Amino acid sequence: MLDILIRRANVNGVIVDIAIKDGLIIDIDNKVYGDATVVFDAQNKVTIPGFVDCHTHLDKCLLNEQQPYQEGTGPQKGALTYEMKKSFTVEDITLRAEKMINKAIKGGTLHWRTNVDVDGSVGLKGMEALLKLKKKYENQIHLQVAAFAQEGVFWDGETESLLEEAVKLGADLVGGHTIAKGEGEKHIDFILALAKKYDLEADFHLDESGNREHYLLPYLAKKVIELNLQGRVNGIHLCTLSALTPQELEEAMGYIEESKLKITIAPTAISTRHIAPAKRILKTGVPVGLASDNMRDFFNPLGSGDVKQVALLLSYLQRFFLQEEVDQIFEMITTGGAKVLSIKDYGIRIGSRADITVLDALTVNEVIAYQNAPVFLVRNGLVFS
Ligand SMILES: [Zn+2]
Repeated sequence: MLDILIRRANVNGVIVDIAIKDGLIIDIDNKVYGDATVVFDAQNKVTIPGFVDCHTHLDKCLLNEQQPYQEGTGPQKGALTYEMKKSFTVEDITLRAEKMINKAIKGGTLHWRTNVDVDGSVGLKGMEALLKLKKKYENQIHLQVAAFAQEGVFWDGETESLLEEAVKLGADLVGGHTIAKGEGEKHIDFILALAKKYDLEADFHLDESGNREHYLLPYLAKKVIELNLQGRVNGIHLCTLSALTPQELEEAMGYIEESKLKITIAPTAISTRHIAPAKRILKTGVPVGLASDNMRDFFNPLGSGDVKQVALLLSYLQRFFLQEEVDQIFEMITTGGAKVLSIKDYGIRIGSRADITVLDALTVNEVIAYQNAPVFLVRNGLVFS
């Protein structure tokens, strides 16, 4: 007797039945025979393990519930957030993050990487909260937690050692911000060295301002190659690419290819700057993912933790309208994102943990266009509702 049998699921364009027992996918065929405790007819709807959302800030989400959004420059918003961070508690961070985690699960997200600020203002409170939530929700969503130097590394006399403590607490990776406090190359050196020392991946908010003077991709690529960290570093944003000449842009693509940099596009940044040219980056063949980034805070008063929304936004912004382009967008929130996050076993296959998301759509085009919630969720072999 099977636990769950999903009939007529559209997996990569092929209609199959999926059999689940003891938390695992035990059979995938055009017709599985046998009874099951739960039988669900997917009616040929698109079926995936779950969405992949490559970047957010769960420790700072929903700050607008405590203080209304206000307009201002980037540094002003950063200063406002920094002030609020001083009064964060583990409980407060947990409550806010948990709300968004639950929304993301219901929206079908299975893998989500969050940066968590680590510095003198908030200490390790964010790490403590998110590592506990990672454990609490492990059967429903896979969280990756990055110990993040949002404010810079060397300016407060505390962040340097706190980052190392965060790694020892269990951070999955380390995160840097290449324009933070003007630390530039020194900042990159520190974050990469920390990643190397603990054999972790690294993740940078890279060239986020969109300004040419903040263009550090060439230096990052050079250091990644020097340290033999190819394929282990993710660059988020790269807005400065949109300010380069065509020839400089081609050189930039060379840096990305040679260093095997992984790329995450966060399209909501369009509210204040240009977005990196995703179609050109995809041509390099490196993994490219999409991300919710900020959610209901001073940088983005909107945001729901539903990565389909950012896929729709990028589709409009950069005209991903042709069939092969819609397929690319869908890939960015599924298999492409899984490569960015180095998820080895992403896919619906026999022997895998039973994480199945049946979407309310017959094609990937309908997934992006209609933005429907999933109709059936299985997480770790259990029906989730
Ligand atoms: Zn971010």
